[in-house]
This record gives sequence, C-alpha cells and structure tokens, in this order.
Amino acid sequence: MTKTLHNYVDGKWVPGESTFEARNPADDQIIAAVPDSNASEVDAAVTAARAAFAEWRYVNPTVRARHLHAIGDRVKARERELAEAITAEMGKTIGEATGEVDKLATAFHFYAEEATRVHGEVIPNDTDGFTSLVVREPVGVVGAITPWNYPLELIGWKLCAAVAAGCTIVVKPSPYASLSPAVLFSCIDEAGLPPGVANLVSGDDPAGPALAGHPGLDKLAFTGSTATGAKIAQRVPAARPLTMELGGSCPMIVTDRADIEAAAAGAARRGFRNAGQICIAINRIYVQASVCDEFVARLTEQVAALTVGDGMDTGIDVGAMATRAGLEVVDRHVRDAVERGATVATGGHRVDELAPGNFYQPTVLAGCTPEMLVMHEESFGPVVGIMPFGELTDAVELANGTEAGLAVYVYTLDLHETHELGRLLDFGNVAVNNVDAGIMNAPYGGRKGSGFGVEHGRAGLEGYLQYKHLRIRY
Ligand code: NAD
Repeated sequence: MTKTLHNYVDGKWVPGESTFEARNPADDQIIAAVPDSNASEVDAAVTAARAAFAEWRYVNPTVRARHLHAIGDRVKARERELAEAITAEMGKTIGEATGEVDKLATAFHFYAEEATRVHGEVIPNDTDGFTSLVVREPVGVVGAITPWNYPLELIGWKLCAAVAAGCTIVVKPSPYASLSPAVLFSCIDEAGLPPGVANLVSGDDPAGPALAGHPGLDKLAFTGSTATGAKIAQRVPAARPLTMELGGSCPMIVTDRADIEAAAAGAARRGFRNAGQICIAINRIYVQASVCDEFVARLTEQVAALTVGDGMDTGIDVGAMATRAGLEVVDRHVRDAVERGATVATGGHRVDELAPGNFYQPTVLAGCTPEMLVMHEESFGPVVGIMPFGELTDAVELANGTEAGLAVYVYTLDLHETHELGRLLDFGNVAVNNVDAGIMNAPYGGRKGSGFGVEHGRAGLEGYLQYKHLRIRY
C-alpha cells in the first residue's frame, strides 16, 4: 500500500491539503503520496518556527547539544529504514545510502559538540572606563531548500548547524526525495525536540517559491542547481543572509607526474558514485598528453566493470538516475560529444533492458574538446569527458574556464605542481591525490557560479550566527 506522507509543523504531523505521487526511479512504481504544500501551509510552518525561536534562542547550549545527540542516536538506530527510503526515492545503491545516513548521524553529533563552543570576545576600548563584549547570537528563523541527490545530508548540514546555533528552521525538501526527510523528522519527533524548532513542508512549486520569498525568514540556506539559485536570489526580500550551494561541473587534472592507476581509480569513484549525481562529481578530465592514452585505457577498464541495476539489490555499483530529465541531459551531452568528434570508450547509451527505470550505462568519452557540453556544463550523471593538455598552465586555464568553482581534483606526485595548482585553481575545494573533497570539520562551499557561503565544520555554524557588540561604561 502506498504511504501517505505528512508535513511536520509545530511538533505535529499535518496532512497535506493536496498531494502528488512520488515514484521509484528504478521501476517507476508509486511509492508515496506527498503533500504538495501551498503558500498557507508554508506560512503555518514559518509561523511555528518564529514562535519557537522566542524560547529556543535562549535555551542553554548544553541542552541544545543533548537534543542533537539524541537525534543523532535515533538516526543511527533507524539507519536501515532511512537508507531504504533514500534508495527507493532517488535510486542510489543501498550501500551508498547507508553511508549517507551514517554521515548524517555524525553531523548531529558534530554540531551537538560545536553548540557548546560558541563564544565571544572582550575588545580593548579607545576610551578608559568602557568595556566591549562581542557576543554571537542566532540569526533567527531559517528556511532550507534542498535537492534530491543527498536528501538527508543536505538537510542535515543546515538543520544541525541552525539548531545548534539557536535558530529554528523550516525545511522544504526536493519533490524527488520526500520519503527520507519524513523518516528523519520522525527521528526528530521521537528524540523530543521542542515543537516548532524544526519543521518540514514538502512540495515543489508553490512550496519552494513561497518559502524562498517568505518575509518571516531571517536566513535562507539553499542547495540546488545554479539556475534555481539565480531565481531564488531574485525572489528573497532584500538584505537577508543567504547561503547558496550550487552546481558543480567539476574538473580533474592528471599530470605526467601522477600515479596513473590511482588517478583512474579516483576518477572511477568520483565520476560514477551516486550515478555521477554529485555536485562534486568529476565531469571533465584534463590529462597531460603523454599519459592520456594510458589513463583512458585504465579508466575505461574500471568503468566498464561497474554493474548497473536497482540500488536495492546486492552487488550493484550504479543505481537508477533519480529523474528522467536528468537522464535526458546525460544522453544529450553524450550525443553532442559524439557529433563533435569524441570517441565513446565505454557506455554511451541507456540501459533499455532495465526500462522503465532511469538507467544509463556508465560512459567514458575520450578525445573531447572544450566546446562539447560535457566539458563545460554540469552533466550530473554517469558520464565523464577526457581531453589531453600540453602545459600545466593550459590545464589551469581549462579548469578555471567555466562558471563552476566548487571542487577540482588534481593527481600529481610532484610537490611543486601540487602547490602551484593549489594556488592557481579558483575553486572552494581542491583535492590532491584523493577524491573526497569534503570532510565534516572543514568548510565546504563554492565560488563563482557554484555559490557562496559554506557548510560543514565550525565555519558552517558561523552562517547561523550574528555578532552583537555590547559596549558598557562602568
Ligand atoms: P533544483 O535546483 O532543481 O532543486 C533544488 C530545490 O529547489 C528543490 O527542493 C526544488 O523544489 C527547489 N526549487 C526549484 N525551483 C524553485 C524556486 N523557483 N524557488 C524555490 N525553490 C525552488 O536542483 P536538484 O535537481 O534537486 O539538484 C541538483 C543540483 O543541485 C545540481 O546542480 C547539483 O550540483 C546541485 N547540488 C549542489 C551541492 C553543493 O553543495 N554545491 C550539493 C548537492 C547538489
């Protein structure tokens, strides 16, 4: 029987006034009826968050920390259920979904600890008889709008940091991933977070625009595509803090000083995990000409061995793509590259025998050139394009030459090249000889068209705090 999901507002489960059907992208079966929230349902959630903020902002940080630890424990206890919800709604393998839930639990515990470490400063004054205290206070009521590719982590980074800081929050998840957020809010409910501190309203349009433009918010935290980020930036009332984590189209540079086997393994992992649907997925690869053929051969061998299928089954490396529209973008990028002269080293087509699921064969395109879509637009699917370069400066120019500024990957065993590339690459994250650009306690964010503001780490908490200067004459 299809589940009917509810919104979670002011500590209560509230049925949606209308609903839409959510489908499993692996078999196109209906999995849930989801609230298609309207502006007044969004408004009720913001009102609840506003009322809760009046008290939550003054709750002792150690108490806030205890709540966050309790939620983290509930998340870990319900790991399998949360992971199955992710796989059913957006297709990633159950192993990757389980990893995501584990990281979500870590985020709750990390920000529980950070909650107790928010402190201020005593500032020397220009006049005797005065003292200046600089304290940090929560920003207020936060709206969070999130995508489907990491449906729980991308809610978690915002929710954990906001709640730790003393803010309250209204979360609007992606219409392609509403199930796992509902289970997460059930964990929040079980853990006894006070009503109104964290609220969930599902839907797409009108819920997203209604939340983004709501005058009752003090901050908006958005993760999603660059195009949607641009629309939202125009909608938010003036002078409100924004965090924008946007699209990637991430490059990789492999020099002739690299361990080519390691570089190919890195590209296979970061190009194809989550079917390539990661903002920091490797999309375009620049390889020094003398080692390019060797790199293509090794990567092709690894990618051709990936198994494609329903993410719920065992032994699957690449699950269904979350949306049909996403699959069509990948297909368009592949056809465009081939028409312009690229070679398909492996893949290059949909997996028809798994239809109506959204499956695309992991694809490596060799002999690419910069004007091909795959080399300058975000493919957000299981495809990478490879082109050779001559001098290191050419690789830097190519890598920096798009609007993307989220993450870049470098493979070289040369210390000079490492520092030179680290200095010249204009990205928020630079990973050298590894492909895990983000860790829980370091700031993570993009530049240029990839957005602004950071999540993760202590810096991720700062975005939910504001300064107050208290100048006292004594
Ligand atoms: P999307 O932009 O289509 O949707 C994201 C969210 O915005 C959804 O909840 C959607 O309902 C909402 N939305 C859409 N239009 C809106 C509007 N006009 N006003 C308010 N809300 C609106 O993105 P997606 O397809 O869900 O996710 C994929 C994109 O997210 C990719 O571009 C990817 O790179 C990016 N992403 C970035 C990061 C990062 O950290 N930088 C992380 C994950 C995903």
